Amino acid sequence: MTAPGRVAFLGTGTSHGVPLIGCRCAVCTSDDPHDKRTRPSILITGPSGQVLVDTSPDFRQQALRHGVDRLDAVLYTHSHADHIMGFDDLRRFNHLQGAPVACYASEATWSDMRQTFHYVFADKPRTGGGIPEIVVHVIDGPVTVGGMRIVPVPLWHGQMRVLGFRTGGFAYLTDCNRLDDAAWPLLEGVDTLVLDALRDKPHSTHFTVREALDVVERLAPRCAYLTHMTHDLGHRDTSGRLPAGVQLAYDGLVIDVAVAPG
Ligand SMILES: [Zn+2]
Ligand SMILES: [Zn+2]
Ligand SMILES: [Zn+2]
Repeated sequence: MTAPGRVAFLGTGTSHGVPLIGCRCAVCTSDDPHDKRTRPSILITGPSGQVLVDTSPDFRQQALRHGVDRLDAVLYTHSHADHIMGFDDLRRFNHLQGAPVACYASEATWSDMRQTFHYVFADKPRTGGGIPEIVVHVIDGPVTVGGMRIVPVPLWHGQMRVLGFRTGGFAYLTDCNRLDDAAWPLLEGVDTLVLDALRDKPHSTHFTVREALDVVERLAPRCAYLTHMTHDLGHRDTSGRLPAGVQLAYDGLVIDVAVAPG
C-alpha cells in the first residue's frame, strides 16, 4: 500500500556546490539556473508531515527558497560536512514549533556529530548563544516519521558505511559508490530512484554517471534522478546523453512519489 507524497530537491550539488568559488569554467559561469547547485538535501512530504534528509551548509537558503516552515523529523545519511553543517539552523524550527526536532542517524553519524557540534551535546552550562534542541534517535531499522515508514538502505561511500532511505516506491541513495549486498532486496520494485552520480571521471567514494546508470539498469525503476554532481556535468549537455527515464536532478525540482504510510 502506498500514499501520495512529494519530494523537493533542496540541493543537488557536490560538497563544493556549483559554481565553485573562483572557477570560470563553462558550467560555473553558465546562465542556466539548472547549473546552480547547492549542497545535497531533499525534503520528503508525507501523509502527516515533512521530513528533511540532511542539513546541508545551504540549509537556511534552501528552507527560505522552498518556504519550509515546519519539520517533523530530520534523517541523516552520514556525517560529512556537506550533509550536516546546517544543523545549527534547526534552532529556528524550535522557535516555530515550540518543540525539539526529532533527528535520526546511525550511531556512527551521532558519534561524529557529538564531536563536530560539541557545544550542542556538552553537559557544562552554556555561556550565551542558543543551541538546537533536538531529540536523538539512533537508526537501527525502519522508522516512522511524517506518517511514512522509511527503511534505511545500507550503502558504501568508499570505506564508510552510509545510509540511503526508501519509503514506498521512492528511494534516495546519495554519497555512495557501492550498494551493500543487503541493499538490493530492500530496493526491489522501486519506482523512483535518486542516485549519486558525481561526474564521469572515476572517484573513490562516489558513483560516476556510468556506474550510476549500471545500478539503474539493474534495479529498473520507472524513473531515476541523478544528484550530487560536480561542475563537470553541465545540466543541458549531460541531460542530452542520458537514457530515457533518467534525468539530472536540479535544485528546486519537485516530484510526486508514492510513499509507504506508517
Ligand atoms: Zn567550474
Ligand atoms: Zn559524503
Ligand atoms: Zn556529500
